[in-house]
Amino acid sequence: MNRQTYIEPAIRTIVGGFIVACGVLVYVQPAWSWLWLSILFFVGFNLFLSGFTQFCMMEKLLKKLHFRSELDEIRNLNRAHAEAEARAAFYDTLGLLNEVVIELSRDGRLAFLSDHWLKLLGIDSRSDEDFVGHPFLSFINRQDRRVLETLLDALLKGERDTMSLRFRMLREDRHEHWVEGKFALYRKQGEVQGIRGVLRDVTEAHVQEKRISHMAMHDALTGLPNRTYLDERIAEAIERLGRVGSKFALLFIDLDNFKRINDLHGHKTGDQLLASVSAILRANLRETDVLARWGGDEFVVLLPFSRDADIARKVAGELMRKLQLELEKQISDTFVTLSIGIAVYPDDADTSEALLVQADKALFYAKSQGRNNIQMCSDLQTRAPGFEDAEMTSRFVAAVKQSLFQVYYQPVMDAGDHGRIAGVEALARWHDDKYGWVSPATFIPLAEDMGLINEVGRQVLEQALDHFSQCSGVCADLKLAVNVSKRQLMSVDFYPMLLDMVRRYGMSPRQIKLEITESIALEGIDKARTYLQRLSEAGFTLSLDDFGTGFSSLSHVHELPFDEIKIDISFVRRIKTPEGRVLVKTIADMGHAMQLALVAEGVEDAETAAILRELGVGMLQGYHFGSPMPKEECADFIAGLRSPLLASAGAA
Ligand code: C2E
Ligand code: MG
Ligand code: MG
Repeated sequence: MNRQTYIEPAIRTIVGGFIVACGVLVYVQPAWSWLWLSILFFVGFNLFLSGFTQFCMMEKLLKKLHFRSELDEIRNLNRAHAEAEARAAFYDTLGLLNEVVIELSRDGRLAFLSDHWLKLLGIDSRSDEDFVGHPFLSFINRQDRRVLETLLDALLKGERDTMSLRFRMLREDRHEHWVEGKFALYRKQGEVQGIRGVLRDVTEAHVQEKRISHMAMHDALTGLPNRTYLDERIAEAIERLGRVGSKFALLFIDLDNFKRINDLHGHKTGDQLLASVSAILRANLRETDVLARWGGDEFVVLLPFSRDADIARKVAGELMRKLQLELEKQISDTFVTLSIGIAVYPDDADTSEALLVQADKALFYAKSQGRNNIQMCSDLQTRAPGFEDAEMTSRFVAAVKQSLFQVYYQPVMDAGDHGRIAGVEALARWHDDKYGWVSPATFIPLAEDMGLINEVGRQVLEQALDHFSQCSGVCADLKLAVNVSKRQLMSVDFYPMLLDMVRRYGMSPRQIKLEITESIALEGIDKARTYLQRLSEAGFTLSLDDFGTGFSSLSHVHELPFDEIKIDISFVRRIKTPEGRVLVKTIADMGHAMQLALVAEGVEDAETAAILRELGVGMLQGYHFGSPMPKEECADFIAGLRSPLLASAGAA
């Protein structure tokens, strides 16, 4: 039955009847025709209403009798058509994105895929439609499947609203492709329908990040892990083994007379020797042992599973023997021996740094005993009572109590504008009557360990703000950068203390830059963001110090409200090598892409400065422009730059 069945006869009857009635009435009684016409209209209108009501009732009746109403069908078709049009337009828009949008049903099957899904899988011979209905997890690399499954489950159970993860897809060409997926639940009329996700190919960024972190953690000559990596592994061993009361040993190794070999045969031979030594040492250690190059001809071995000093001594003896044997085969005219110092955790020290110091002291003793020799730290302590140097610690505590720290300032130059100074970095200095100048690299960790970092940080900040507010005429347009350690940043007092101090010295947060190292990201991104966000909102500039040496990935940096990255000195030092240049360029390009300002630290010569400028690094800091200096000297430096006669000197 169609619409015509109801409407047409009804219209025909009403209109026909009306015309006939009019004709008859006008013929019979023209004078009264208006009256009859009105009556007829009234009757016709009522007829129409009753017909329409009947029509609707019939519709209802048909529905009740479960006959499909054609009208309903037409309505539904129209609605579906409009929806399909809107959806097609939406999909066309999705096709413009580089990302793939997917919808998963509640049981994890692909319900919808936008364009580029095939590209993500490296397939071009099939259609997206072929994949609809397949379980999403079956396209994910086996190693990442479990984590993704757990997170998707948590999402469906309502344990979290959104989640993101980096994982690998299973591609036909078997290439490793990394994808960043962001997922959220989607509901219709309050009811969960499934999961919607956006997948982005991040392979290139991932590979670059890996390269940067590998280079940051490894030594270029020997390919061995470097100090940064070693520190992390020792800290990990302390955390993991210390918790179950287990011991482990650290070996500090030094090649005897390496300098003589270098002088006699040249640096090239020296380098080859170092590479051979590292290869032999590595080959004679277990896979779980860590061998790192400490610097020069020094190596450190972490033996996480040597539970007592005797085992460590045995391993050390074996390394000495094997090294001599192998080297004799390789270089017959050179006789190389080793000196080794051993420290055991927790007998000799209970922190990573102290353990290294103790092993180094044992090594020093081994060398003083005529080289080619192994010494245990424990032997040393019984031989030399009072070996433990507690004096520096107590002198440091006294220095904190008496506020004996000074603040030095190092200029940060604007790379583009010749000779213009962009700001200064405040650096803490401590001069002790007995030890002389002690590096902040020594006393800042000491302050952290002793819980004194907030106090030291407060003293440095107070002095720096005091100095800066006094030179408001010259310094008004300069940024004052202060270093903030992770512990300091995370203490509850830090934020109110900082705001109060800035206000007290009549300064604005906009004049202050806080330099924070990447280790903050290890606290977890959400936690780090909470601490950083309020500082950023208050107007402070946030700079990521020593960038590239930590573990945070670039994508994490993107999630934190940093305004600037400070490229670590270890990268700047390597910039003259093709490899180093590529590395800094990668960091600079990523910085630009993330719209972050870039500063390079440790610029020691004009060539390095020129390369950095070329790579688009906006600010430069280092001995080439000026070393850290006391406030008076810094004021002269700034004044000198601003005097037209001297300005050209700073442009160097
Ligand atoms: P940083 O923040 O990365 O500071 C830069 C370090 O590089 C400084 O060492 C500086 O003297 C040094 N430097 C600057 N230009 C050059 C150069 O051209 N070549 C070389 N080889 N080195 C250069 P410094 O003053 O010994 O500080 C070491 C670290 O101690 C700082 O690294 C910072 O992390 C920490 N630190 C210093 N003062 C403070 C402070 O007040 N609070 C906190 N929390 N940490 C501080
Ligand atoms: Mg710094
Ligand atoms: Mg730095």
